[in-house]
Amino acid sequence: MESELAHNLSTSESVWKSIQQVLKEYINIRSFNTWFAPLELVNLDAQYLELRVPNRFFCEWIDNHYAKIFNNAIVQVLGEHRKIKYHIKNHNLPDSPYMDADLQPSSVNHRTNFPQATINSPFYTRINERYTFNNFIVGDGNNFAYAAARAVASSPGRTNYNPLIIYGGTGLGKTHLIQAIGNFALAKYPLTKVYYTSSETFTSHFINSIQQNRISEFSAYYRSCDILLLDDIHFFSNKGKTQEEFFHTFNDLHQNGKQIVLTSDRPINELVALEERLISRFKWGLIVDVQPPDFETRLAILRKKCDESDLDIPGDVLEYLAANLVENVRELEGALTKIMAQVTFTAAEPTLELARQIVNEIARPDKKILTIEHIVEYTAKIFHLSPDHLRAKTRKKDIVRARQVAMYLAKHLTNYSLITIGLHFGGRDHSTVIHSINTIEKLLKQDVNLRHQIESMKKHLEFQK
Ligand code: ADP
Ligand code: MG
Repeated sequence: MESELAHNLSTSESVWKSIQQVLKEYINIRSFNTWFAPLELVNLDAQYLELRVPNRFFCEWIDNHYAKIFNNAIVQVLGEHRKIKYHIKNHNLPDSPYMDADLQPSSVNHRTNFPQATINSPFYTRINERYTFNNFIVGDGNNFAYAAARAVASSPGRTNYNPLIIYGGTGLGKTHLIQAIGNFALAKYPLTKVYYTSSETFTSHFINSIQQNRISEFSAYYRSCDILLLDDIHFFSNKGKTQEEFFHTFNDLHQNGKQIVLTSDRPINELVALEERLISRFKWGLIVDVQPPDFETRLAILRKKCDESDLDIPGDVLEYLAANLVENVRELEGALTKIMAQVTFTAAEPTLELARQIVNEIARPDKKILTIEHIVEYTAKIFHLSPDHLRAKTRKKDIVRARQVAMYLAKHLTNYSLITIGLHFGGRDHSTVIHSINTIEKLLKQDVNLRHQIESMKKHLEFQK
């Protein structure tokens, strides 16, 4: 009975993680960190999703601003609706939004050994304790990266691997490894100041501190760490000012023997929009790559995840998943979570047939390639225009907006280059395409209606693939 309870709880946790993952795709990371990261799962059953929130303000804010998105995310993961029930964590807290909620997630385990000043800083981002070396499966594609990460974690700042740069495609374990370094170092040297942040958050912290005249605080914070873990530095491309600031931080830390670890989804040489001097600094250290896992590693990863969740899935089902989901580990995990959810909540059996269905949903091997033409036609229809309007030179406001939306969708739903996209819109050049995409990205942050519209367009187009 007890183990059944534990089993359900860990399954619920992974379902909740998947819901959060879906939410992240639909709302910007800052809002996500503010409103959703601090929520803690209390219970999930056939009727309710119960969450612990830091105070009353959270429930109201989420209900008023994110109800639809939240419900959609639940349905997307579970295949059906759940009512949301909130438990308020601390009745004594003022019901005020003016807190660094995104920076002090309540779910953080306040480790006594973690310098309090760090957690209270407006720049603090938590490390996920789930990412450890112990639950990282090592195979041919990642053993070098793993070894380097362990070496750095054991002797931060004292190896030649400074900076250590891990690069590789998405979903291959870069974030897992970089955070495992932090967790390992903290366990070994509890007083180490380990700062983890994504380059996107670093950039937004930087921009906010310029706006709020807190730039010296920002610099001092990032320079006060012993280990700086900066995820996804490809995000710095084209962000000149942030690069500049990072360059100084980097030099300062490096000179003082502090450890720097970076990840990137591209080889460093291909980060064309990064300044030459940054790239040459990066080459002082060690650059390692992570490659997609081979079949055995994929299977081992699945087995490990099943063990962790106390889940009993037949070998042939796992093998089927490992044989068919070959691109990345995130996909593999996603499939397993879906199976878990079905087994737990609909009493389905974890059969090969179920695995087949799920693989089809994820991989759709026979999917059609979505063309830019199709996106143009569909967008024109939604905006009550003709496709030729979008291709023509006209600058009428409505047409411009529709054209920008179509370009944005083409960028996000296809692999075509900006130049090719421009060609499909009456031969516009790629800087116009970039401008359009940026405009929509900015608008998406402010305009809920537009966000919903684009989301539903995306879903429609994805579905047609
Ligand atoms: P990336 O940052 O490279 O896009 P992540 O580190 O976020 O990828 O990995 C995606 C998911 O796959 C994470 O949940 C991670 O724990 C898991 N994962 C990736 N590689 C491994 C591995 N070798 N062993 C166990 N889990 C892995
Ligand atoms: Mg990552």
